[in-house]
Amino acid sequence: MTDSHCPYCALQCAMTLTRDEGSVPPLVVAGREFPTNRGGLCRKGGTSAELLRAPDRLTAPLVRDADGVLREATWEVALDLLADRLRTIAVEHGPDAVAVFGGGGLTNEKAYQLGKFTRIALRSKNIDYNGRFCMASAAAAANRSLGLDRGLPFPVADLDAAHAVLLLGSNVAETMPPFVPHLSGARDAGGLVVVDPRRSATADLTEEGRGMHLQPVPGTDLVVLQALLHVLVAEGLVDEPYLSARTTGWQDLARSVAAWWPERAEQVCGVPADEMRRAARLLAAASPARGGAGAYVLTGRGVEQSRQGTATVTAAINLALALGLVGREGSGYGALTGQGNGQGGREHGQKADQLPGYRSITDPAAREHVAGVWGVDPEDLPGPGLPAVALLQALGRPGGPRALLVHGANPVVSAPRADAVADRLQALDLLVVCDIFPSETSLLADIVLPVTQWAEEEGTMTNLEGRVIRRRAAIDPPAGVVSELWIWSQLARRLGAPGSWSTDPAEVFDELARASAGGRADYSGLSHARLDREPDLHWPCPATDEGQAPHPGTPRALLDRFPTPDGRARFIAVDHVGPAEELRVDAPLFLITGRVLEHYQSGAQTRRVPALLAAQPTPFVEIHPLLAHRLDVEEGEEVELVTARGRVTAPARVTDRVRADTVFMPFHHPGTGSVNRVTNDAVDPISSMPELKVCAVEVRATRAA
Ligand code: SF4
Repeated sequence: MTDSHCPYCALQCAMTLTRDEGSVPPLVVAGREFPTNRGGLCRKGGTSAELLRAPDRLTAPLVRDADGVLREATWEVALDLLADRLRTIAVEHGPDAVAVFGGGGLTNEKAYQLGKFTRIALRSKNIDYNGRFCMASAAAAANRSLGLDRGLPFPVADLDAAHAVLLLGSNVAETMPPFVPHLSGARDAGGLVVVDPRRSATADLTEEGRGMHLQPVPGTDLVVLQALLHVLVAEGLVDEPYLSARTTGWQDLARSVAAWWPERAEQVCGVPADEMRRAARLLAAASPARGGAGAYVLTGRGVEQSRQGTATVTAAINLALALGLVGREGSGYGALTGQGNGQGGREHGQKADQLPGYRSITDPAAREHVAGVWGVDPEDLPGPGLPAVALLQALGRPGGPRALLVHGANPVVSAPRADAVADRLQALDLLVVCDIFPSETSLLADIVLPVTQWAEEEGTMTNLEGRVIRRRAAIDPPAGVVSELWIWSQLARRLGAPGSWSTDPAEVFDELARASAGGRADYSGLSHARLDREPDLHWPCPATDEGQAPHPGTPRALLDRFPTPDGRARFIAVDHVGPAEELRVDAPLFLITGRVLEHYQSGAQTRRVPALLAAQPTPFVEIHPLLAHRLDVEEGEEVELVTARGRVTAPARVTDRVRADTVFMPFHHPGTGSVNRVTNDAVDPISSMPELKVCAVEVRATRAA
């Protein structure tokens, strides 16, 4: 039996993996007691063993031949060819012409090594990852306001006792069901407030007096937050002693929300003014300042994947600070990270603007420290590269990258305006995809390299609460399948790269820990051996001097001070600008997107699990009964969604779960029903996160008249 964790989302539920040679796949998965999941698994985690023996598993390198056909090759041939082509492109177009696109599902060791490989083996500045679509706005806002981005700066289990939780843009009942019991304290107290334009499964948790569902016009969550803040100010519900002791900028912030009285906010966001007043009072009553049992403000992708995502999360943090919740045991603000290693993925250097330890790549001291660990001159480290959307848009254009290496991502389904992304990928001189299965992206590649997956590899992941956990191998990979660490070491050798390129995850972790020392995400007191003994350590966990007790880790960050220059959190006033696209005569409805219980991300994994695919085989469009009546569309009938970027089709689900001015589609499927073909790639000016969550659309019936 092997203790490990789920291959999917950031809750990283604990599992026991038992080998059973008589079964196919030869592994049985069971939930294991752990603070995040308490033994529970959702349907995705419970069927995850199926991923190990999917019939179309990639088991040999594939190289596209002169006829345009992907054919099997030996590792020697594929890597020699790849190194040769990378070298040629770099010589002809410069090192930045080779770009890298990483993933939030890679282990910490791989995320670290990929950033190092890009910067000192390829000598390119151009690396970013799919977390730019996932956590960038929450990260930017938390760093600005609190000086620290650790999704939840407290253990998930702290939520249990709270009597109020404001949950914005997150459908945890479908994305991470074992999280839901942590909301039971708030639900029992009638204090769960869900903000979502759609009546999701999570919104249903507020029924029967368990809380409130606020259903704003898509793209106006920021207005709801401004109104709640206005009520706190107007009714004297803020935590004055906390504001004086732990924050700056309150007076300016209070003035900035004066114009958002609830009746005015209602005109914009559509949420009844009295409901917003009630929600604000409910949060205040549960706050420690008023002797309550605790309150939390939590954000998710629904509010973050927006061109005003950073501003909206900033408003959520402003609200939590005004109530005195942040940096206090039993209360707080947090972002619910989505991807399995979305947290660790943004700490170790696969972001365009970062070095390991969550350091800025433009900070001279950070460059010197990391260059020292890597054994190179700081002058030789490139500067910041292009963030994900700009990187994808630049592919194959004059002056843009000519080659792209994709690791653990499927942008042909997951990126906004995905058809344009597919066009850019096809304009490249070289596309390389490392993956476990053929994906919609790998089908366009020149070289495809098969790699190990979760239960076949050792490593670490950092979950949504900054807890560093061990991923362990329980089964050998199929013959021909290797770890990315081996691929990068082989390529680094062929490219004559400086530095050492270990293929041992424990050794790579030790180097990562040294590189992180002194950074915001300091792992220097951690090692695989220590994590095996102590499976409950949260960063920062710095090394201690010889003879001293090891650092105990930091389950609750921000308690004593905020890691800002003056130790205080900053109130930052923000404005509502609204979605990038306004409704038009030819696009009179909002299109919003989201997830379903059975699928994860682009569906590249979950669509290969028969039970999950059978439960949710196709995409669908939720449309309100009034709209269905107007269009003369019946349940199950195909409808066409047309935006400024193109069209998709899917069967209609007629339901009052969506507003009458809104349609909803999940984004896990490829082909004609792949909604990201029509989503908007406008980006947040601060975080560069794309506006995946809302755009203007026309819905048409496809039935012949
Ligand atoms: Fe896996 Fe997330 Fe489901 Fe837990 S909630 S079993 S981590 S997909």
